[in-house]
Formats: sequence, structure tokens, C-alpha cells
Amino acid sequence: MQEIPTFEQLGLTAPLLEAISDMGFTQPSAIQASAIPVMLQGKDLIGQAQTGTGKTAAFGAPVIQLADPSERFPQAIILCPTRELAVQVAEELKKLSKHVKGLHICAVYGGESIDKQIKALQKGAQIIVGTPGRVMDHMDRGTLKLEQISMVVLDEADEMLDMGFREDIEQILESVPEERQTVLFSATMPPPILSITKRFQKDPEMIKIASKAVTVSAITQYYFDVKGSLKLELMIRLIEGYQLSQILVFCNTKSMTDELTEKMIEKGFDAEALHGDLRQNQRSMVLNTFKKGKGSILVATDVAARGIDVDNVEAVFNYDMPNNEEIYVHRIGRTGRAGKSGLAFTFCSNRDNLRTLEDIRKYTKAEISEGEIPGKEQLMIIKKRKIKEQIQESMQSPDIHQFKEIAQELLHDETLSPELVLSSLLNLQFGPLPTDDTVFIFASPKKRSDDRPERGSRFDRDRGGRDSDRRGSDRRGNDRGSFAQRDQPRSRSRQGDEAPAGRPEREFGRPKPARGSGEKMSRIFINLGKSARIKPGDLVGAIAGETGLAGDRIGHIEIFDHFSFVEVPQSLAREISETMSQVSIKGKTVHSEVARS
Ligand code: ADP
Ligand code: MG
Repeated sequence: MQEIPTFEQLGLTAPLLEAISDMGFTQPSAIQASAIPVMLQGKDLIGQAQTGTGKTAAFGAPVIQLADPSERFPQAIILCPTRELAVQVAEELKKLSKHVKGLHICAVYGGESIDKQIKALQKGAQIIVGTPGRVMDHMDRGTLKLEQISMVVLDEADEMLDMGFREDIEQILESVPEERQTVLFSATMPPPILSITKRFQKDPEMIKIASKAVTVSAITQYYFDVKGSLKLELMIRLIEGYQLSQILVFCNTKSMTDELTEKMIEKGFDAEALHGDLRQNQRSMVLNTFKKGKGSILVATDVAARGIDVDNVEAVFNYDMPNNEEIYVHRIGRTGRAGKSGLAFTFCSNRDNLRTLEDIRKYTKAEISEGEIPGKEQLMIIKKRKIKEQIQESMQSPDIHQFKEIAQELLHDETLSPELVLSSLLNLQFGPLPTDDTVFIFASPKKRSDDRPERGSRFDRDRGGRDSDRRGSDRRGNDRGSFAQRDQPRSRSRQGDEAPAGRPEREFGRPKPARGSGEKMSRIFINLGKSARIKPGDLVGAIAGETGLAGDRIGHIEIFDHFSFVEVPQSLAREISETMSQVSIKGKTVHSEVARS
């Protein structure tokens, strides 16, 4: 390995070295080590490195050192794709220039009063950081003069092109003196970037920091082969299992970010969507909350999250698979920063996704292993902690005094121990605790080759019905563990208590056409199988008992190791799977859904 130079060896002068040390940087990053000396020589440069590699200081320090503080006109212009980035870059540059007297940095971007910016520009800033649109605006008004610019930096150039700034950028580059230094940074190098480079740079030096160095070992990467319809549940299980509080979730479309955010909020999470459609001040608000936030989930598109610099992201979720390996690296680079460890979870819900995953593996040479879904033990720890918190909280309520008398009676009853009384109350309020079975619902059935189906006989209706009606009676539960609880709002679980009794006549108790009379059938998935000692009769019994569906309207049953499929009338499949999701069979919590055929 090559030895890492010091900042001093890169040719930086005392005021910068002091500021860098104030900022707590001890060693240059790879891109800084390579780019700073080239920039200090005044050469053009193309820098390719992923997010979080320290590109800002890589160009910021040389720009500051090369600027002349005694001249009060714009000398360097740095273009950034978004307002946040412009602000972020300007802030970092202000820190870097802290010990350089007379040097001023001015940020100009859309969404802020132009008059305020005009005043700031008139004070004679030497370094301008801005978004292309607003820079053009100032040029048009004559409030920003570019004729003495000697340095241009395009930060996140690929992103600026994606956002439609190409013409603006070209026009700005045409308006600055030809005798200048042009530096371009980009995470990726698509052809349009290369064409800008050809047109506007002079013999640029190309510096590429291998992506391998970027998916730092501080990020533990997992993937899950999960059906699309179960991604949300899986994500919640992971958030709870790993006890994550600050996470970044990537979706591929704006509408998906909105949809997912809404669902997360419904489930009681503190989630916000970030996408390009938000107005600037909305974006800033969302971002600031997230930066400060404990307990926040940011759901973003790639464009909206580009370049965002937040140190405390505990995990990145690729809820939607990134379209290519560069985007993957970029996304997960948001975690594992500032000496902390990070997690990256990638959901693959089809074959294409798995193929992309292979490309990512080849490209990053990183280990991305199949993730494990946090099991019973982990959930139990969390559940216990939550129970204790809830009890503590409830102790503050004045309402508890109304139970004082009963409490005293129970405590003084010599036939009962306080432990028994308390356990029983806890069970009433919080039971049952999570079981392992919920884990299996995430497994993708098609891939489990160890599961040999057991052809269920057409069941014997008489054997089924009654006794499993009893078996399925463990459904007082308005709380089946934190996971299940979140999934089912209380109101719905309660309704579940009543539904089987109140509904059968109307919904399921219609005169039954004989099987084979052409009734359209669908399969429902049930998360219990051979490992839970489930037999066809148990399923039929439970379905008949819980939903009132006549047993002979149930078709084929397939029982695998960890789950089963049951054919039921298509018109009722949804209802049946919903009802079944509120019951237990053999003491095990059922999760059911309509299977995709
Ligand atoms: P990029 O533009 O490549 O995404 P940034 O310039 O935003 O990366 O830097 C990411 C983070 O790393 C910032 O918080 C920055 O202050 C910090 N940083 C940059 N250079 C160093 C360094 N040499 N040592 C420690 N931290 C650094
Ligand atoms: Mg950057």
C-alpha cells in the first residue's frame, strides 16, 4: 500500500492546515491526496469518487488557497445541483477559510430572496457557490460578474445533468474567461459528462478513486430475496429487530416514496418523504429534521438524496433495487460514516434484482450476504423493553387510582402471589409474545428447494370443522407482539374478535355450490407448515371454523415445511386471508395472504 501523505505534503499553506486541523481531519482522504496537488498546480481535473469521500475539501482547500483575498471580485465559481448541496459546500468552505483574512464565500440558490443574495454579492465575495439556475439569474441581472473568474468547479456534475441543468452549465462555462481552471467532480461518468469535459476542459487530469475503497468495511451489507408484497413487513421487522432509529430508505420513484412514507406513518413510524417535487423550503425542513433526528426515517429517491451529508445514518435500505451498481455504492455510502459502523439492506424481489445484485457484487467486490430476519429472541428483548416503558408511562396516569381497591384486594389474597397476579395482568395486556413463525412468511416460496410439498388430500369435512374451531380460539389478542401489533391497528384486531361470530351468515354462509361446479379458486398462503405439525385437517378446520366457509368449498391444500397453500373461492380469498391473519392455529400466530398465482 502506498503511504498516505499529510495535508502539509500536499502543498497546503498554514491557514488551511490550521483550519483542517480545527475540523478534526487528521489525514487526507484518497481523493484529497490525489486531487489537491493537481489543483494547486492550476491544472484541469476530472475527479470520480463516490459520496462521502471528502470531495468538498478536495476542491475547496485548493480553491481557497488559490483565491486572492485582497481582490474583491468573484474569482471562483462552484456549481452544485441542489440548494442543500450549495449550502453544505459553502459551509464547509467557510470552515476551511476560517483563518484566511478577507476571504468571503457567498452561496446563491433558488428559494431564497434574490435581494438578500444581491446584497451579499455586493460585499465582494471571491468564491461563489450556487445552483446553475440561480447563478444564471444573477448573471442576467448583472448582479454576478464572471469576467474575472479563474476557477470553475462542477460538483456532482452527473447529478446536475440529470436534473436538466446542462444548458445552464454550458452557458455559464461559455461566459467565463477561457483562461481558467475547470474542475469537475462526479460520482459516475456517463457520456454527457465526457462531452462537457471535451468541450470545456483543457487536457484534464483524470483521477478515479476505485469504488472498492468506497463501500467501506464499516458497512455490513445484506440482501433479502423477498416478495414485493412483503417488503414493508420485512423492513419493519428489521427496523425493530436491529432497533434502528435513523435510517435512509431508497425508492426508485417519487410516487413510491410517497406511498411508502404514508404506510410507515400508518404503522406508527416517524417517516418523511424526500423527492424532487418538494419545494426548496420543504426539502430543507425535511432534511433538517432528519439531520437532528432520533427516530426518523427518510424515504428518498436517488436524485433527492444526492450528496446529502448526514453522519448518523444507521442503515440504508434499498427498498427498491438500485438500477445499477454505481447507484448502489452511492446509496449505501450514506451510512458507516464518521467512524461509525453502518448497515445496508437490499431487497430483491425478482430475478432481475438478483442479477443486478450479482453485478453489484462483481463491481464492489464487497461481501453481500443473505440477511437473516431478526428472530424471536431479538424481538422479545424489544418487546420487554417496550412493556416496561409502557408501564412506567401508565404509572403517571391519574386513572390508575380507580383500580387501587382491586389491587389491594388481589395483593392481600393469600392464595395469590403478587408475581402471579402481575404476570396474569401482563398477559392480558401484552400477550402473547412473538413467536418464531412470523419469520417464515418472508421466505420466498419458489426458492426453498428443501420444501417438498405434501399433497393434501381433499379434506374430510366432518373431521375438520369443529375441533379446530376450538384450536383457533387463541384470538383474544389485540397484541401479538410488537411486530404483529403494528401491523394491525387495535380497532381492526378488536373487530377480529367479533367478526367470525357476526359475519358468517352474510359473507361465507351462502348456499355452497358443489366443488367442481366451476367456481373460480385462488390460493392463499399460510405461514404454518409441517414444522408446526400442521395437517390438512387443521387448515380446513381452522378456515371453516373461523370464517364459516363450508369445508367443501376448500380445494387443494399443499403443506410445505414452513408454510402452506390452500385453495379457496377466489371471490372470498382476500376476506379469508384477512380473517385468518387474526387467528392462531395450534397456538401459533397465523399470517395469511392471497398468493400470487
Ligand atoms: P463528498 O462530497 O465526497 O460526498 P464530503 O466532502 O461531503 O464528501 O465529505 C463527507 C464528510 O467527510 C464530511 O462530513 C467531511 O467534513 C468529512 N471529511 C472530509 N474529508 C475528511 C478527512 N480528510 N478526514 C475526516 N473527515 C473528512
Ligand atoms: Mg459532495
